[in-house]
Amino acid sequence: MKFNYRCTTCSTSYEIAAKSTVCPICSKQQQEDQPLTGILEVELQGEVDGNFDIFDLLPIERKYFPPIPVGDSPLWKPANLRHSTGFKNLFIKDDGANPTASFKDRASFLVSAAAKKFNITDITLASTGNAGSSMAGIGAAAGQNITLFLPETAPPAKLVQALQYGATVYRVNGNYDKAYDLSMEFSKQKGGINRNTAYNPLTIEGKKTVSLEIYKQLEKAPDVVFVSVGDGCIIAGVYKGFKDLKKLGLIPKIPKIIGVQAENSDALTRAFKTGKFVNIPTSTVADSICVDVPRNGVHALAQLKKYNGEMITVSDDEIIQAQADLSSSTGLFTEPAGATAFAGFQKIASDLDQNGVVVILATGNGLKDSTSATLGIEVPQQLINTIDDIKNI
Ligand SMILES: *Cc1c(COP(=O)(O)O)cnc(C)c1O
Repeated sequence: MKFNYRCTTCSTSYEIAAKSTVCPICSKQQQEDQPLTGILEVELQGEVDGNFDIFDLLPIERKYFPPIPVGDSPLWKPANLRHSTGFKNLFIKDDGANPTASFKDRASFLVSAAAKKFNITDITLASTGNAGSSMAGIGAAAGQNITLFLPETAPPAKLVQALQYGATVYRVNGNYDKAYDLSMEFSKQKGGINRNTAYNPLTIEGKKTVSLEIYKQLEKAPDVVFVSVGDGCIIAGVYKGFKDLKKLGLIPKIPKIIGVQAENSDALTRAFKTGKFVNIPTSTVADSICVDVPRNGVHALAQLKKYNGEMITVSDDEIIQAQADLSSSTGLFTEPAGATAFAGFQKIASDLDQNGVVVILATGNGLKDSTSATLGIEVPQQLINTIDDIKNI
């Protein structure tokens, strides 16, 4: 298999190098507070059959990956949900089962391997929480130095995780967008690799493994995939995996991908309707998808349009309700951003073919943000001393 980068805007091809980020030509048009221009995508050439090894479809050789079991996450067949919704072929891909408990490990794994290959030990990034704790954990396994810029509002568990893994953490007096700018400045001054989502093309490439796994687990492509969307990197990764499978002749067409955003953090959904990215301040209970400027917005939007995808929004109440519904009907406890995809499914299920193969991505473990999760439950206030006290509750 051969690999190179290709600019998603001007189509110029580049060799995969240590510090490749965005296209040197198209990034000149980058405007402040707008999605990145000139996103690079990995292009692969070669042949495989349906029994391919996923590592063979990645642009960094297997020997450089750190010893930590990323991916190969379970594909659940939720019997109760299948029964209650009538969707006989409903699946949930549980990416909270990754080593640091979120989907982000797929990207960190590949970035870490690339750093190893090119003899770079310092990796920097900004994160709403999961990418940071992920890079910290994968970096710990690889023996790399991770520097993380984290907004002050990041859920405590994600901060604690990153520190446990030994990362250097700078807590930013501001939101993710500010953390992003600071991390870029830091990388410029200190060097090393920057893992910022989309800016580093290997983040999207690493995330494609989810589609390759789904294909292997189902032995075919699904009809519909629901994905929660913040920066638009996961959704682009999902597309990339299916595009590779199509290019290799293993699937006939790209599935319908439905991106789901929170009502008050919906930059990509608005751009999907209007064609324009407008920067307005966001807020949502789903912290992992709380993004003012979707860094991969332009590229994600182009994919959605080209492959007949869709963008929808759900309210915070719907997210919290979906989270509790999913937990109590399946035993899968996912964080609010993970439950957002399920909330999207609940919202538009009646428009879908019940016989279709539908996959919902659950992108992070519920324990990542237990504070938000308490919104969807009732915590007993009364303490008991004896078993007889139960009668009085
Ligand atoms: C990062 C993240 C997302 C969204 O991914 P984007 O690439 O930012 O669109 C969704 N869910 C969880 C749990 C995440 O950590």
